[in-house]
Amino acid sequence: MLFLLLAGCGGTPEAATPPSSTTPSTARPTTTTPDAPILTTVLPPETTETTPKQVVVLDPGHNGANAANPTEINRPVPAGRGKTKPCNTTGTATNAGYAEHAFTWDVAVRVRDLLTAQGIEVILTRPDDDGVGPCVDKRAAIGNEANAAAVISIHADGSTNASAHGFHVAYSSPPLNEAQGEPAMTLATTMRDTMAAQGFATSTYIGSKGLSPRDDLAGMNLSERPAVLVECGNMRNADEAAAFSSPDGRQSYAEAIAAGIQAYLA
Ligand code: ZN
Repeated sequence: MLFLLLAGCGGTPEAATPPSSTTPSTARPTTTTPDAPILTTVLPPETTETTPKQVVVLDPGHNGANAANPTEINRPVPAGRGKTKPCNTTGTATNAGYAEHAFTWDVAVRVRDLLTAQGIEVILTRPDDDGVGPCVDKRAAIGNEANAAAVISIHADGSTNASAHGFHVAYSSPPLNEAQGEPAMTLATTMRDTMAAQGFATSTYIGSKGLSPRDDLAGMNLSERPAVLVECGNMRNADEAAAFSSPDGRQSYAEAIAAGIQAYLA
C-alpha cells in the first residue's frame, strides 16, 4: 500500500492509474480513494502572486583586499569576445591615498539605500570592502542570474593628466546580444543625461559627450542584461579628488546615479 501511494505522487498519469483487473488480488489496494487527494493537491492556485520587484545590480569596482592577493587577482578569466583578462584589479587612488575601491563601495551603498527606499530591490556584487574580487566574469554573472533590470558598475579613473576631469558612461560596443543593444544604449544615455542635469561635467578626456563605447570591458561584454559602467571622474584631479573624498560629495554622486537608474526604470 505504501509503495502504491509513493508511485502515484510523483509519477505520470499512468503511474497513478489503479492496478488493472489482471493484477493479482494480493497486490490490489482495498480502495483507490487514498490516491485521489494526493493528486488533486499537487497544483496550488497562484492567483495571489504579486508582480516581482524590479532588481538592480550595483557593481562597486575593485575590492579592499585585492592589492594583498595578487595571485588570485591576476589569474586570467573570460572577458568576452574570445579574450581573457585578470580576475580583477586594484583600482586607483587620489594623490592623498583615498582608494578607488573605498569610493566605489561607499557610493554603491548610498545608491542602494536610495533605491531601496523607493521599493527597488538591489543586489551588490560584493558584500563589503574587505574582500578579494569577485572576478569580472563573476560580477557579470551576478547580474545575469538576477535577471537584473539594470546593471551599474561604479568606478573612478586615475588619469595622470591632473587637468583631465569629468564623468563618462561606458557600454559594450559593438553589442554582443540584444540587451547590449538598444536597452544598454538607453541606460547609458539616460544615466549621462541625468548626471549632467544634476551638475556633473562630462569627461574632458575620454569618450564623447559623456559616453564611451568599449569592446574591452569584461563586465559589459559578458552581461546579458542592460549594463553600463559609470566612471565618476578622475581621482588625480584636485577638484574631483576633493569631492570623492568627502561624504557630501559621494552622496551627490550617489543621488545622481540613483536618479539615472530610476529614470531608466520609469
Ligand atoms: Zn576602476
